[in-house]
Amino acid sequence: MSAPQIGVLALQGDVREHLAALSAVGADPIPVRRRSELDAVDALLIPGGESTTISLLLRELELTEPLRDRLADGMPAYGSCAGMILLASEILDAGARGRAATALGGIDMAVRRNAFGRQVDSFEGDIDFEGLDEPVHAVFIRAPWVERIGPNVQVLAQAAGHPVAVRQGRVLATSFHPEVTGDRRIHRLFVDIVAGQA
Ligand code: GLN
Repeated sequence: MSAPQIGVLALQGDVREHLAALSAVGADPIPVRRRSELDAVDALLIPGGESTTISLLLRELELTEPLRDRLADGMPAYGSCAGMILLASEILDAGARGRAATALGGIDMAVRRNAFGRQVDSFEGDIDFEGLDEPVHAVFIRAPWVERIGPNVQVLAQAAGHPVAVRQGRVLATSFHPEVTGDRRIHRLFVDIVAGQA
């Protein structure tokens, strides 16, 4: 079987790092900036960044509805940080009206933006991750957390008493940034999910 073609939404964030991480675990990643590219991929990774800005760019590029439609059709996806926010069905503290972050609805959950507060704007720590033998060194940067999950959502990791990694079917989301640590286990999990092997 040929490697699944995984798109990396390339509007903002660590696009290059995610492309490299996906290649390292055997996927065939390509940057996605336009409709034709989105239509062509088997799955999509949405990097961190600023969810309000990514939402604005999605609107300007007329990608919001196509992306929502592909998620509704069951396209596998992985969102990190801002990507987790976009994959939620509900966003708490979504931002000022008119430029709020858009909930695309890949996972039945409510996610709070910038949930950890100013004092701990950014922090890192080792967290247990369901299905992985060794803890994951998780880097949180103005990260969201999950405040409500639907019945089909599996919690994979928690921090500060809240889910920070979740999965619903073939959609995965983490509050943290696995692309910055060199640990490829989260990207491998996503590729396995895309391939139907996890
Ligand atoms: N705070 C950002 C947002 O609301 C997310 C931060 C990140 O992706 N590192 O989109």
